[in-house]
Amino acid sequence: MQPRRVTRQVYVGSVAVGGDAPISIQSMTTTKTADVDGTLAQIYSLAGAGCDIVRCTCNEEEAAEGLAQIVPRSPVPIIADIHFQYRLALAAMEAGVQALRLNPGNIRKPEHIKAVAREAKDRGLPIRIGVNAGSLDPDIAARHGGATPEALVASAVRELDYFRDVDFDDVKISVKASNVPVMIDAYRLLSETVDYPLHLGVTEAGPPPAGVVKSTAGLGTLLAEGIGDTIRYSLTADPVEEAQAGRTLLEALGLRERQGLDLIACPSCGRAEIDVIGVAKAAQHALEERNLPLQVAVMGCVVNGPGEARGADLGIAAGRGKGHLFVRGTVVRVVPEAEMVDALVEEAERIVEEGIEARLAAADANAEAIAAADREQLVELRGTDANHAAERIEKIREITER
Ligand code: SF4
Repeated sequence: MQPRRVTRQVYVGSVAVGGDAPISIQSMTTTKTADVDGTLAQIYSLAGAGCDIVRCTCNEEEAAEGLAQIVPRSPVPIIADIHFQYRLALAAMEAGVQALRLNPGNIRKPEHIKAVAREAKDRGLPIRIGVNAGSLDPDIAARHGGATPEALVASAVRELDYFRDVDFDDVKISVKASNVPVMIDAYRLLSETVDYPLHLGVTEAGPPPAGVVKSTAGLGTLLAEGIGDTIRYSLTADPVEEAQAGRTLLEALGLRERQGLDLIACPSCGRAEIDVIGVAKAAQHALEERNLPLQVAVMGCVVNGPGEARGADLGIAAGRGKGHLFVRGTVVRVVPEAEMVDALVEEAERIVEEGIEARLAAADANAEAIAAADREQLVELRGTDANHAAERIEKIREITER
């Protein structure tokens, strides 16, 4: 991981973006903004999933009126998304939003852009310059031979110049493209060009899982290079999935503290003593319901499981009809296989309540010895032939010799 690039800091309501602020997670509602209750319900779900800032479209007068009722009741700051009509930007500010997103590709008259910037300056509100490869200024696209990284950055710089004319620099910028290499290069170039906070996104990434993979490729690459101050996954899915994906990415990169469960599981192989996929799903479901901030491992066999997942706070490995529960690699309890998921949940709750050290200190005295014996027996039984190939070959020979 490269050190984080130093950027200026802006405030979207109470949420700092840029500078040394934690990288924030954004998403966008899919409801009609005029539907106040429906939009608020989605905003609450997003906030519950770890979203820091929510954007709502402001595409008509009714939407601006909806914002006037949504903003005071929202648990997180609201950004109004503006396309084409600069008057709706003015209306959204009047409605009380904490920031705006303007698309320079479709609000092109300098006097309109400057009018919005002047009003934002008077109200102390930041604006995101949201450049999008699909709606680039035609003259910029023509000059650069299409939506190249240079064209995306040129569009942002032109908008910045209009803002500077009215002495406005409370700005963050995005240069999104659906083509991941173009998006990565555009942000790299932008980060060399300006020191404003950057909002990262792969636009129109599509439905999961491909949309998540494309977004993660773009966002993860840039974040690992220290580029990016706030992120959005643009998925064709329930926006809660966007927030969850954003949260997971930042936690995986160590850029945000773990808020909930991190379930790791082995991919399973011929050595597996249980249905790893089924047990992992059951464990995930049970643990997520309780929202415990732990890393929990589900490992298919006791031969390699506890060792490979020794970094996990808690884990379970299967062997010889039993579940071996381990805490940071030490086996603390052995239970019958049928009880392993329940025991895992029980242990997780105990660790959250008492702490890891206390649980290790209270480990069952003979758990490690039972686990070691099971491990040995398994190695002896299965040896290197975990898939029973020798046994099968023997049977095939018997059949064919008959
Ligand atoms: S933990 Fe055991 S079952 Fe899982 S992948 Fe490793 S060897 Fe295979």
